[in-house]
Amino acid sequence: MTHPLLRVQDLRVSYRTPAGDLPAVDGVSFSLAQGQALGLVGESGAGKSTIALALMRLLPRNVAQLEGEVELEGAALLSLPDEAFRREVRWRKIAMVFQAAQEAFNPVLRIGDQVTEPMIVLGGMSKAEARAEALRLLDLVRLPGEVFQRYPHELSGGMKQRAVIAMALALKPKLLLLDEPTSALDVTVQAQIMDQLKDLKRDLGLSVIFITHDIALASDICDTLGVMYAGKLAELGPAEAVLARPQHPYTRLLLASLPRLAQERPPQFIPGIPPDLRAPPSGCRFHPRCPQAFERCSREEPPLLAVGEGHTSRCWLAEGPGSSRRGTPE
Ligand code: ATP
Ligand code: SF4
Repeated sequence: MTHPLLRVQDLRVSYRTPAGDLPAVDGVSFSLAQGQALGLVGESGAGKSTIALALMRLLPRNVAQLEGEVELEGAALLSLPDEAFRREVRWRKIAMVFQAAQEAFNPVLRIGDQVTEPMIVLGGMSKAEARAEALRLLDLVRLPGEVFQRYPHELSGGMKQRAVIAMALALKPKLLLLDEPTSALDVTVQAQIMDQLKDLKRDLGLSVIFITHDIALASDICDTLGVMYAGKLAELGPAEAVLARPQHPYTRLLLASLPRLAQERPPQFIPGIPPDLRAPPSGCRFHPRCPQAFERCSREEPPLLAVGEGHTSRCWLAEGPGSSRRGTPE
C-alpha cells in the first residue's frame, strides 16, 4: 500500500491563556502527496501557523493540548521522542520558512556562514562541503555566488527571502512549510519568488504547505486548497474546483474580497470579525457573519460534507437548506 507523504488526522492544538484554553486548531484532517502543494488560507487567527508549528514541533510552551495523528511516509510523528524528531525529522524531512523570516538573519554574520551552519551542525558536513552545497543552493534560488560573502543588510528583501529559502532546503527536506513567505515583499518581487517556488516544487519534487491569507496567491502554486475558519477547515478540495465552484459561503466571500482589475464592482468586505475561539459561536462557527445563515446554522454544527470529487465543505447548504440529514462523518 502506498502512503501519502503526509497524513494529518484530527489534529487538535489548544493554547493555555489567562482567560482559559484557546483551541487554535480543532480537528483538522488532510493529506498531501509527494510533489503536491496544499494551500492553507483564511483570515488571521484561523490556526494556519499553529498547524505548521505543530508539524515542525516548534509550538510555544503554553500549549495545553496536542492531539491527533500525523504520519510522514507512513511513520507516526507525534509519538516520536523529541530527540529522535530533532535528529531525523526537523529540517531533514520537514523544513519551514517562517513569517518575516528574512528579518531573522543575524546582522553581523555573512550570509554564507548562516546558510552553511545547519549543514555543518545538523548535517555533519565539513566546511568545504557545506560551502560547495551552499553555493549550489544559492544558484538554485537564482542568487549570485558573491551573496555568500555579503552581510544581510547588503541584500534586498527579495534576495534575503531567497537566501532563507536556500537555508530551508539545506538538508534536502521532502516537505517545505511556507508561512506567508512573500508578505513582506512588494508585488513584483512577490511574483518572482512565487515563480521560483513553483520551479523548486517541480524540479525537486518538493511537497509544499503554503500558508497565506491571500487565496489568489495560494492558487498560483497549490494543487489543493484548504480554507480555514476559526480553527477548522471550512472547505477542502482541488484548487481549480474551490476557485471555480466554491461551496462554502466563507470561501465565496474570500474570493469576492479580492481586488480585480477587470471587474467593475469594488471588492466586497467580509462582514464582522473572526470569533474569540475561547467561546466560539454555537452551531456553525461562521453563522454570525454568514449572509446565507438560516435557522439550523446556529443550532447544529455542520461536518465536512462531500460536494465533489475530493471536495468537501463544512456547510449545511451542501445538503440543501431544507434537509435535516446528517452529513458524512469526518
Ligand atoms: P496569522 O496569519 O495571524 O498567524 P493564523 O491563521 O496563522 O493567523 P495562528 O497564528 O495559528 O493563526 O493562531 C490561531 C489562534 O491561536 C489565534 O487566535 C491566536 O491568537 C492564538 N494563538 C497563537 N499563538 C498563541 C499563543 N502562544 N498563546 C495563546 N494563543 C495563541
Ligand atoms: Fe452559512 Fe449556515 Fe453554511 Fe454556516 S452552515 S456557512 S452559517 S449557510
